[in-house]
Amino acid sequence: MNKKVCVSTLGCPKNIVDSEKLLATLNYEYEITENPNQTDYLIINTCGFLQSSVAENEDYISQAIKLKQIGKIEKIFVVGCLVSRNRAELTKKFPDIDGFFGTDFLDKLPAKIKQNHNELYGERKLLTPSHYAYLKISDGCEHNCAFCAIPAIKGKFNSLSIEKLVEEAKYLAALGVKELILIAQDTTSYGIDLYKEQKLNELLQELSRIEQFKWIRLMYTYPRKFPTNILNTIKTADNIAKYIDMPIQHISTNILRKMGRGMSKEETINLLRAIRQNVPNIAIRTTFIVGFPGETEKEFAELRDFIEEFEFDRMGVFEYSAEIGTAAYKYSDTVSKDIKAQRLEELMLLQQNISLKKNRKLIGNEMQILIDEVKDAFAIGRTQYDAPEIDQQVIIKSKKLIAGGFYNVKIVDAREYDLIGKVVK
Ligand code: SF4
Repeated sequence: MNKKVCVSTLGCPKNIVDSEKLLATLNYEYEITENPNQTDYLIINTCGFLQSSVAENEDYISQAIKLKQIGKIEKIFVVGCLVSRNRAELTKKFPDIDGFFGTDFLDKLPAKIKQNHNELYGERKLLTPSHYAYLKISDGCEHNCAFCAIPAIKGKFNSLSIEKLVEEAKYLAALGVKELILIAQDTTSYGIDLYKEQKLNELLQELSRIEQFKWIRLMYTYPRKFPTNILNTIKTADNIAKYIDMPIQHISTNILRKMGRGMSKEETINLLRAIRQNVPNIAIRTTFIVGFPGETEKEFAELRDFIEEFEFDRMGVFEYSAEIGTAAYKYSDTVSKDIKAQRLEELMLLQQNISLKKNRKLIGNEMQILIDEVKDAFAIGRTQYDAPEIDQQVIIKSKKLIAGGFYNVKIVDAREYDLIGKVVK
């Protein structure tokens, strides 16, 4: 009888891809279970990005150890970013853990717990709904954003070759994936290590030749040295979503300089305008940080006014978190927790109004909707302008629609972050 193994994935879509690859290789010798409370082996794929995720992950590990102590789990392995960030501390804190593996666990762990381990190219056991999947095109980062611990966790850029990525994409297409979501710490620097030049445009062109994909979506782009040659490819390829995710973090030139972003306010605005001019109707998603050390009321107001004027299609805001090991950690955290919370709330209220205004303009439009799930009498889907899990949804009153199906839908009503639609016969 094969032993049972469960992989718990904490953190971001990059972790999801790693877990899917791990599950695909373990599937040859283990019975895969999704129940972490009843398994022989539990593998916890961790996140170590922020202090808050460190605390959450350590709590998860403690709960798992309790299950092991009452015999519900035989062995626990902790892998991924938290281990790469705090291995020594974790090893001392959790002596009951059977093995710690850093972000290179895909090479090391299978060899430890499998009889016959052969490296697998491209095979994945999907954790996402079967109609969409993430494609991790590179890992690591060489930018030095002052607030970010990722370069210390993940190391230098490490791009997969175009050939390997096309092979993996074709494997996903054969599994029935229709939406392919490109991810990395920074997708725009794709290939700079392997090919000594940015190759994102070539990769997008190769992937868009795989006709099974209806939407190819680009996430985690970085503004500095943005490869504008991709804009024409996004505009002209029918199966590339008119959507771009580009965290900007702030707009004040002084704060951007202190963050080590290497872009000024003017350069950022010029790039955003160029994206909108070159790709009509493109949806731009971004994220900002409020409360970075030294952020004055005036600099915050500059950010607020910019958001009001530019009107992003999708937006998230985070409070600055002082992270050990980052350049900004030595700056005294001058903005109080209350002020950070107030600034975050103020920006999200502003965005709520912008989003409602934009959504109301869509009433009467017919749009292509991909259904993610059908719950009771409702189908929940997305437009090409929405990434799964983080962006808006379209709600359709119907029992007949199928998850993974594309439907023409007329927008009949709008809310701040949702659209209401009716299937067009
Ligand atoms: S681009 Fe900046 S924020 Fe993003 S992973 Fe790299 S260092 Fe961190």
